[in-house]
Amino acid sequence: MKFKHMKNIVLFGPPGAGKGTQAELLKNKYNLVHISTGDVFRYNIKNKTALGTLAKTYMDNGDLVPDQVTIDMLKQEVEKNNQANGFLFDGFPRTESQANALDVFLTKKNTSISGMVSLEVPENLLVERLLKRGETSGRADDQDEVKIRNRFNEYKEKTSILQSYYEKQNKFYAVDGVGSIEDINERLQKVFNNLS
Ligand code: AMP
Repeated sequence: MKFKHMKNIVLFGPPGAGKGTQAELLKNKYNLVHISTGDVFRYNIKNKTALGTLAKTYMDNGDLVPDQVTIDMLKQEVEKNNQANGFLFDGFPRTESQANALDVFLTKKNTSISGMVSLEVPENLLVERLLKRGETSGRADDQDEVKIRNRFNEYKEKTSILQSYYEKQNKFYAVDGVGSIEDINERLQKVFNNLS
């Protein structure tokens, strides 16, 4: 199966930046398939699959799930949607090896990443947002400041370098992620409209 003329966007930013919230709005507006690797893992944990069992300990501690497990899962999610207009990747890639694997995978399908759009939010506000979300999300990794700090460390050590990975391809776009959901959405739309 080959894809053509797709808008494939990586929504980027640290935990709590608002990727999931904005992806929900943007997927409808641009008719994109939203793939959140965190959501897929949580679905598997809830349904007690082998993948869920494997991912759970990593996730509960705020560690990244191993690359190969994550990459294989992501590919499967893409393959499930062969009629898509494009994909909105949320929480993937998170390491350079995931980014490389995604490029190779999409190239084989005759398509590519259109852009990485990064939501920029200061860390003190991120902690506040995550703890607040933890009151209702039931997520162990949102409820404990030690785990939240570990997620930021993982982000800084393994994920933040992806900014330069996509900058080198002239595909990196930064958006101010502070403000109302509507205002941030408008800023994102301005970038999305120019990506093809
Ligand atoms: P999220 O919902 O994006 O905040 O992700 C929650 C957790 O799922 C992360 O802290 C990781 O344990 C795991 N996870 C989600 N996406 C990835 C990924 N691309 N690579 C490795 N682990 C991931």
